[in-house]
Amino acid sequence: MLRQVAEGVLIHESEFCQSNAVVVQGRAGVLLIDPGVLGYEMAAVANDVRELGRPVVAGFSTHPHWDHLLWHARLGEAPRYGTARCAATVRDRLSDARAKVRIAEQLIPPDIAEQVPLDLLGLITGLPAEMAQIPWDGPQVRIIEHQAHAPGHAALLIEERGVLVAGDMLSDVLIPMLDLNDTADPIEDYLAALRLFESVAGDVDVLVPGHGSIGGADQVHARIDQDRAYVHALRDARVPSDPRVGPSAAFDWMSGVHERQLQQLARRSERDGTPG
Ligand SMILES: [Zn+2]
Repeated sequence: MLRQVAEGVLIHESEFCQSNAVVVQGRAGVLLIDPGVLGYEMAAVANDVRELGRPVVAGFSTHPHWDHLLWHARLGEAPRYGTARCAATVRDRLSDARAKVRIAEQLIPPDIAEQVPLDLLGLITGLPAEMAQIPWDGPQVRIIEHQAHAPGHAALLIEERGVLVAGDMLSDVLIPMLDLNDTADPIEDYLAALRLFESVAGDVDVLVPGHGSIGGADQVHARIDQDRAYVHALRDARVPSDPRVGPSAAFDWMSGVHERQLQQLARRSERDGTPG
């Protein structure tokens, strides 16, 4: 199941939406980032980790969306972290009794709903905002928090391995999806996050997006530029020339996502009386 992408860093790509789970080997066990989506896949990852002879000693969710908040009993009971803002958002969204039913009915595609175990969804411990690294016994993992795509979204930089775990950005298959819910300036939030990535790009040999193909060093700037060009096109209500939407797109629903983002931004600017 697991494929090594750098020394001590392995990934599993899910059948669902090319989601990438990331395993980082530490001294006493492994860190598991965004464990996966389908129950049998997470169970298989748990088996593979067991074969490495090391338990899961920590988990991390990059952001508060259902497909990054799952867990499987066979992965054990390690603490699962996220940024404080991610954890607070999850708590808020799961606070009423029908929250999981709503997620199952409205967010998870019906064809996989039965295969997504929700019992351990979102049990995240928030790390204090001033904590710059994941607290664990392994290679240093720097937390790069920003507000693009979702509240308290964190990319993770494993510096000594040259790996950037980007969360739901810098994908070759998904366009930038803005957080248009409660944010004052979703376009600027996104551009600011891309600037953060740019500031660490020189340290990155392997880029792991939340969904899509792993990129090499040559892909880092290319994907930052591609995401920025899309966000600029969206801001200016121009038609993006972007392979992720249109006839060659990996996912045919991506053009619908693009249209909805255009409409929601237009509605916002009408409401606010300002462009963007
Ligand atoms: Zn995702």
